[in-house]
Amino acid sequence: MSSLTQTINAPNGVSYQQPTGLFINNEWVPSSTGQKLPSINPATEEEITSVHAATAQDVDKAVRAARAAFEGDEWQSVVGTARGKLMLKVADLVESQQHVLATIEALDNGKPYSQALGDIEEVFSVFRYYGGWADKTYGQTIETGRHKFTYTVREPIGVCGQIIPWNYPLGMAAWKLGPALACGNTVVIKAAEQTPLSILYFANILVEAGFPPGVVNIINGYGSEAGSALVQHPEVDKVAFTGSTPTGKQIMRLASDTMKNITLETGGKSPLVIFDDAQIPNAVKWAHYGVMGNMGQICTATSRIFVHEKIFDAFARAFKQYVAKTQVIGCPFDEKTYQGPQVSKAQFEKILEYGRIAEQEGATILAGGKIAESRPNDKGFFVEPTIISDAQPHMRVYKEEIFGPFAVLVKFSTETEAIRLANGTEYGLAAAVCTSDITRAHRVANKLKAGMVWINSSNNSDFRVPFGGVKQSGIGRELGQAGLEAYSQLKSVHLNLQLTEQI
Ligand code: ADP
Repeated sequence: MSSLTQTINAPNGVSYQQPTGLFINNEWVPSSTGQKLPSINPATEEEITSVHAATAQDVDKAVRAARAAFEGDEWQSVVGTARGKLMLKVADLVESQQHVLATIEALDNGKPYSQALGDIEEVFSVFRYYGGWADKTYGQTIETGRHKFTYTVREPIGVCGQIIPWNYPLGMAAWKLGPALACGNTVVIKAAEQTPLSILYFANILVEAGFPPGVVNIINGYGSEAGSALVQHPEVDKVAFTGSTPTGKQIMRLASDTMKNITLETGGKSPLVIFDDAQIPNAVKWAHYGVMGNMGQICTATSRIFVHEKIFDAFARAFKQYVAKTQVIGCPFDEKTYQGPQVSKAQFEKILEYGRIAEQEGATILAGGKIAESRPNDKGFFVEPTIISDAQPHMRVYKEEIFGPFAVLVKFSTETEAIRLANGTEYGLAAAVCTSDITRAHRVANKLKAGMVWINSSNNSDFRVPFGGVKQSGIGRELGQAGLEAYSQLKSVHLNLQLTEQI
């Protein structure tokens, strides 16, 4: 046991015990081969620790634990109200340990500590929200005539394999665990290679709250090994994934052999359309938040910003100034920092590469495109916030998801053109529109091909509201009441009231 925890001392003075094993059946175990993966601090490029990385054999063990828990009396006898109580306890424990959890996220992911605290608030809010739903997911009685009594029962799906990304590590885990547990499923959840730490700390909270063994099993591991073993395991009934579109497609293929229920939340290149009647300061504020927040590592980032030609120059000037003023780059634990490092060397290099591509493609670089000169100690995966103008629809910077603080400004002249450009993408996750004309706002919202539309804001999401995409941005919805549908299924029961007495 002692070899499966390590004391971590964070730069903000927080010292805590970091679990490093696999969490299966409420116990900490090493991986079957002893293989590990390193957790790198992206602000310093130094290794924080390394954690056990599951093999296919470990995944099998975790899935069997989840299956046994799902079929067993201990979890089956926990009725919705009691499940809700367990979840509320988790919420309280997360809230009381929010400083440690936010510290871990800042250390492991690189996001500023203040923003990490916001992530943790989302975690306990989501657990409270779905804890409240746990005894409110029932079926219906259906009128089918005098000779029959017919009803539906809303049942859990079974064992859920959940695969989460690195941009909001514990936040994304909460979005998946909340509805899964509220509906009475059991889970094997895998964190992303880049951010393995916070979910391991969270595992101990589940035990403290009183979750029975096997209900939630938490593993780290490589996507191509542990992730793909989880997706293909015949005892997994449902797969929920958040990550890139290419990986989402691969997961769909892998899950098809056993025809699993799937929920996918994948990539985007979301548009923000700013009309000439928009309030420019408001548009600037949200344009900035929508693509520069969380180091631009947001699947719903409104990274293509379409601006009416009448206000284009004024907007571009104000946006550039606002970004320069707000986007303070620095150590995640420095209170002044707005932008920490990108999560990994691979992401850092990818964003810098797009800076070079923009130049080669002939776009105008209004700001950024390079390594941040102000990065502390000349180390860490810090990039300059980048603003590109004169981008054309055929250019890679215009079409491809970059997943960094990288905005592409595009001029338009009519509403029809703006809608055509906004929809001219394989993605359909989110969209935003800024205008003072309420009729236009709704008309445009109606025509935008996206799972979510913000009017006069961007990326202003809420855990009570469904989240998800259309086209190649995903399948199904998370959050809100709709999130429960992804983790439950209906059974229809037909009771014959007219028994035959003679044949
Ligand atoms: P990125 O490209 O940004 O690293 P991915 O979409 O590849 O993002 O990864 C998101 C999550 O999907 C991670 O937890 C990763 O381990 C997992 N993953 C990657 N490849 C696979 C795969 N083939 N099967 C299952 N999970 C995978």
